[in-house]
Formats: sequence, structure tokens, C-alpha cells
Amino acid sequence: MAALKTGKIRLAGLVDDSIVDGPGIRLAIFTQGCAHDCPGCHNPDTHAFDQGYDADIPAIAKKAFDNPLLSGITLSGGDPLYQVPACLELVKAIQGHDLDVLVYTGFVWEDLVKTCQTNAVLLDFLKNIDYLIDGPYVKALRDLTLPYRGSSNQRCIDVKASLKSNSVVLLDW
Ligand code: SF4
Repeated sequence: MAALKTGKIRLAGLVDDSIVDGPGIRLAIFTQGCAHDCPGCHNPDTHAFDQGYDADIPAIAKKAFDNPLLSGITLSGGDPLYQVPACLELVKAIQGHDLDVLVYTGFVWEDLVKTCQTNAVLLDFLKNIDYLIDGPYVKALRDLTLPYRGSSNQRCIDVKASLKSNSVVLLDW
């Protein structure tokens, strides 16, 4: 994927009023690009880094502000963490509007925390989100009874509490 200009994020699509991508009613933002290649992935069209479209970050923020029913936004994919600077710009753009931020990633929390030691942008991003659902989709652990995730290895993490306590704090979801 070519380098994104400031103000742009590479997307596969957007879903208004989602009730399956986290608590409440959410603007679900599906980023384009993922290299995890989880067998059985439900969104294979989001893998290629040279597909999708460049979306305008202020326009996405306005879309969120214009919906009074939203609890928050969800960044899904693809994997949003392949474009952390753009995701950081987006979460900063919606601050001050009582919207929480949930992020899905195929990376696991412990590896992200290690990466933060040398990646200040990733650390800044994690400090500005609320919930992270981590880990790859594992077909053998598929569990349709779990809210908001596809397989039982994936964890719903309280990001602010985890960063504060320096250990993973799970949400009661
Ligand atoms: S991380 Fe998500 S989008 Fe990427 S291959 Fe795995 S299930 Fe699919």
C-alpha cells in the first residue's frame, strides 16, 4: 500500500448503526489490509493492501457526530494496526464527543505492549482507545456464543486498565 496522506485512512467499508461490533450502536469502520491470513477468515476481501479506498478522516468523524444514537466507533478490518498513524488520527478526531473506541486486531496484547517500547505512535494509539479484541481468528476455537468475537482465544481487553496495571485486564463480555 502506498503511504497514506495525512487525513486519509485506507478502508474496505463502513457500516452505520452496527449492533454486532461491540456494545451499543456503533459506527463500524473496516480497514483494508491484513497479513495474518487466519484460516476461515470471514473477511478475505479486506486482506489485500492495494485494494479498498482512501477515506477522509474528518468525514468519518462527522458521520459519527451526526448520529446521536452512537455509543462509539469500532475499528475492524482487515487489521487496523497495519495503519496505526491513520487510526490514531481518527480516534483523536472523535475525542470530546462521548464516543468510546473499540479496536479489533489479529495481534496479541503482549506483543503489542513489547512493540510499544520502541513505537511511540502505537503506544499513543493504545492510550487513546478503550477496548481491544485481540488475537487471530482460530477456526478450531470457533464459538458463536461469545459476544463480539469469533473464537475463544480472542480476548476483550480493557485497554486503559491494562496499561495502568501493566497486566492484561479482561472485560466482563
Ligand atoms: S486478523 Fe481478522 S481480517 Fe485478518 S486474517 Fe485474521 S480474521 Fe481475517
